[in-house]
Amino acid sequence: MEMIQFHPTLLGTPTNNYGLISEAVRGEGGILKNAQGVRFMDDYHPLGSLAPRDITSRAIFEQHQQCYIDIRQVRGFKQRFPGIYQQAQRYCSDDYSQGYLPVTVGAHYTMGGIKTDLAGRTNLPHFYCIGEASNTNFHGANRLASNSLLEAIVMGQHCAAVINQQPSRPLVDPQPSLVQIPKISEAVLKPLQAESEAILGIERHGACMTGYLTRLHQALEQAEHITLTQLTPTLWQRYVRVKMLEIICEAALHRTESRGAHYRLDKPKMQTALQQIDIEIVKGEDMHAQHIKRTRENQTVLPGR
Ligand SMILES: Cc1cc2nc3c(=O)[nH]c(=O)nc-3n(C[C@H](O)[C@H](O)[C@H](O)COP(=O)(O)OP(=O)(O)OC[C@H]3O[C@@H](n4cnc5c(N)ncnc54)[C@H](O)[C@@H]3O)c2cc1C
Repeated sequence: MEMIQFHPTLLGTPTNNYGLISEAVRGEGGILKNAQGVRFMDDYHPLGSLAPRDITSRAIFEQHQQCYIDIRQVRGFKQRFPGIYQQAQRYCSDDYSQGYLPVTVGAHYTMGGIKTDLAGRTNLPHFYCIGEASNTNFHGANRLASNSLLEAIVMGQHCAAVINQQPSRPLVDPQPSLVQIPKISEAVLKPLQAESEAILGIERHGACMTGYLTRLHQALEQAEHITLTQLTPTLWQRYVRVKMLEIICEAALHRTESRGAHYRLDKPKMQTALQQIDIEIVKGEDMHAQHIKRTRENQTVLPGR
């Protein structure tokens, strides 16, 4: 769950944004510049404004100022990118009239998820998972643009085929679960959420994550525990949010390297020893996350076809 991709170019500012600016805009000649007009991407990657997403997002983040795409060299922008044009006219018309689109980075895709095989089977019988909630190894540590569309088509077909082969089962009366869930208040959730961007965002640091994880554990442990039947949707969502932050933080702490979308200031290098390792989070009996490491399995993308 530490592998969270940030898209480099949302249209707008960190506080107000209005949709994605496709990488095709830079492919057609758009150039990233900071507020001083500097083409900063040339300092980060030989491909400049066409560098991979993780490098571009980090470079924009490290400018600590508003950045822009200079679109003055993009021919026929209005006709080729009508959706972006409309948004820019509507929300950023002053910048657009000068030939610039203001950009900011934003959370975009989670490559981690529930471990499945290539038919979406999990380790629980009759429980399948595909799409962004699943971890199929399709995307590695750094998803390429539009691969989720490919994944939806391939996995959807495989998973449906497997489910359709299963004999139908009689319905059984569900038994109420005895699991107890922490009742998280808004006052506890808000500061944890507010901190999450700085601690689990584009640049992470081991010491900061350690302190943050302690605060997450405290929130979960010190809360009153209630049964599932006592839960409201709001209480469930608050619990799930803290739980997700805990799982992401655990995984990010245990991956003591930087790889793809996961970047640690205190461990900036890739470690070959971790190349073939999946860091997995499993749920203990007390509903607290524990991590395990296991060797990544090679999967055949289209078995038997
Ligand atoms: C701004 C943006 C732009 C993107 N652009 C592209 C792109 O150009 N190309 C590309 O390939 N990918 C793109 N992606 C990624 C792609 O959209 C996602 O990877 C994809 O939608 C994931 O599909 P999914 O079915 O797994 O999840 P989702 O599309 O998120 O679907 C999950 C569904 O489950 C529903 N749901 C949630 N909880 C419950 C519940 N408890 N009960 C019932 N239903 C529930 C939700 O309402 C939702 O409809 C983009 C993502 C973002 C955020």
